[in-house]
Amino acid sequence: MKKLLLPLVLLGVISCSQETDNTLKNEVNEYKTYDWRLVTAWPKNYPGLGMAPERIARLVEEMSNGQMKITVFGAGEQVPAFGVFDAVSSGSHQMGHSGGYFWKGKAPAAQFFTGVPFGLTADEINAWTNRAGGLELWREVYEPFNIYPIPAGNTGTQMFGWFNKEINSLDDIKGLKMRIPGIGGEVLKRAGGIPVTLPGGELFTALQTGVIDATEWVGPYNDLTFGFQKVAKYYYYPGWHEPGSMLELLINKDEWDALPNHLKVIIDTAAKAVNQDLLDEYTARNNKALRELVDVHGVELRKLPDDVIAEFKDIANQILEENAEKDEIVKKVYQSYKNFKAEVSAYHQVSEDAFVEARNK
Ligand code: CA
Repeated sequence: MKKLLLPLVLLGVISCSQETDNTLKNEVNEYKTYDWRLVTAWPKNYPGLGMAPERIARLVEEMSNGQMKITVFGAGEQVPAFGVFDAVSSGSHQMGHSGGYFWKGKAPAAQFFTGVPFGLTADEINAWTNRAGGLELWREVYEPFNIYPIPAGNTGTQMFGWFNKEINSLDDIKGLKMRIPGIGGEVLKRAGGIPVTLPGGELFTALQTGVIDATEWVGPYNDLTFGFQKVAKYYYYPGWHEPGSMLELLINKDEWDALPNHLKVIIDTAAKAVNQDLLDEYTARNNKALRELVDVHGVELRKLPDDVIAEFKDIANQILEENAEKDEIVKKVYQSYKNFKAEVSAYHQVSEDAFVEARNK
């Protein structure tokens, strides 16, 4: 901090002409310190998801040599989990960390920037966002809310989740009360289930007390920490509903616009680093956690029947098409996402998919 104070002291003793005045204003801005608050949709210090904003805060403070300090608040500490978007939009908090699909009621197009059922994997959504027009569309979608979004984490492909009854056919979906957010929830509803949206911190109790029959959350690494293995018997895959969920750093746009350029670059770079780091963490930890769930806790790992997956896919595509017809910006984002998915999956069929198939045979 001393290093930052020195230029301010020097500036104070310079007498000035009109021209120098303007220079001074700019320089004062360059060296101004920032003490920002970041609210999240996750429990404080929650492994994976909740540590992403903590790491961004630490990186920003270190890279800016203390010029910007960000204090991170867990869900419910200052605003509820699902109050993050409004807090950043209104400017009551400068920053937030969450998932875009939570805001489907405010901005239906936001869901594409977390991911949609049978959509892009982690690598693919990063490519679409950073290199194929997704980020520009995302900023356009959040502009009316005065929010500037930056990608900030990815869970990789999730699990379908925790069940106390077996899913052997579509009949078993009928009447099933399951926590599942976003378009995945709409798919479940159309297949006869009852989707529920609850923040992560409430899921264990909801499952334990029978408020819900099933829940999805993330994957083995996170699910183990919530202890779902104590209250549910079956663990189903694949996570067709969340193929590579991208998380978001939300910044109040007025606050962002007023930042000196070097702090913008620092925040952007920190978020980019954490976007990849979180995916690496999930990839490294999930397999070990899955072994523990199965070998130590006796969880029964099950694959959804092919006809159930096929039906979910048909319904998901219908819903995506219908939603696009209702809203111009949804249509625009969907077209871009869909086109990129077609291109990238055609290439992946002859590269990654073919390789993984050959390797695992
Ligand atoms: Ca999930």
